Amino acid sequence: MAKNMTTKSLFSFEEDIIRESHEVLSKKDELIPREEYEKLLVRYERLFKQMQRILRISDRFQLELSLSNKDLEQLSTIDSLTKIPNRRHFNQTYEQEWRRAKREGNHLTVGMIDIDYFKKYNDTYGHIEGDNCIERVASTIQNSIQRPADYIARYGGEEFGLILPNTDIDGAVKLAEKIRSNVESLQMAHCLSDKGVVTVSIGISSEIPIQEEALMLELLNRADKALYKAKEEGRNRVEHRCS
Ligand code: GH3
Ligand code: MG
Ligand code: MG
Repeated sequence: MAKNMTTKSLFSFEEDIIRESHEVLSKKDELIPREEYEKLLVRYERLFKQMQRILRISDRFQLELSLSNKDLEQLSTIDSLTKIPNRRHFNQTYEQEWRRAKREGNHLTVGMIDIDYFKKYNDTYGHIEGDNCIERVASTIQNSIQRPADYIARYGGEEFGLILPNTDIDGAVKLAEKIRSNVESLQMAHCLSDKGVVTVSIGISSEIPIQEEALMLELLNRADKALYKAKEEGRNRVEHRCS
C-alpha cells in the first residue's frame, strides 16, 4: 500500500498532464478554449525540462559506473602486494606475445623465477618479513628489466613469470643472470639459505613460435622444468632449455 502511494506521488505531475490531455482531447465536437491549450503547453514544457534533467543525471551515473569498472579491471590485473601484474594478466600477455612472435617470426622467451628456501625464510623471520621480501624481490626484478616490451608478473606465492619478446636464449640468459645477481646483491639476510642471503633460481625457455598452439603451454612447461633443474643443481642459478 505504502509502495503504491509512493509510486503515485512520484509520478503525479506526469499523470496529471496525461489525464488533462485526455480530457481536452475527449471534447470531440466542442470548441476547445485557447487557454486550455496554453495551460497544457506550459505543463508540457516543464515535463520536457524534467526529462532533460533526468537524462543528464543518468549520463553522469553511466560515466561514473564505467570509471569504477575500469578501476575494478585494473585491480584484478595488478597483484595487491607487489603492485606488478598478476597471473591473470600474465596469461593474457603471454597469449598476445605468442601470437605476435608467431606473426613476426621472432623469438619469444619465458622465464620462471622462484625465491630459494622461502618456506624456511617465513618460518624463521615470520610472514610479514616474508611479504616484505617478496615485495623487494619483485621490485628488484622490475628494475632489472630494460626493454619496454620486457614483462614481469607475480605468477604465484614466491614465483614470478618473465616474458621477453624478440629475445633469443643468449640474450635471455644474460638478463636472467643479471636478475639473479641483483637479488643476491640485496644481501637480505637468510640464515637458512646456502649463501646466508635471499637468492632466486631461474628457469628459461625460448622458441620461435611457428608450430601449433599446443607449444604455447609446452614453452611454459619447459621453463618450469628448467627452474626445477636449477633447484636440483644447487639453487641461486639460471638454467635453460632450448627447442
Ligand atoms: P625452494 O627453494 O625449493 O623453492 O623451496 P621453497 O621453500 O621456496 O618452496 P616451497 O614451495 O616449499 O615454499 C614456498 C613458500 O612460500 C610456502 C609459503 O608459505 C610461502 N608463500 C607463498 N606465498 C606467500 C606470500 O604471499 N607471503 C608469504 N610471506 N609467504 C608466501
Ligand atoms: Mg615456489
Ligand atoms: Mg621457492
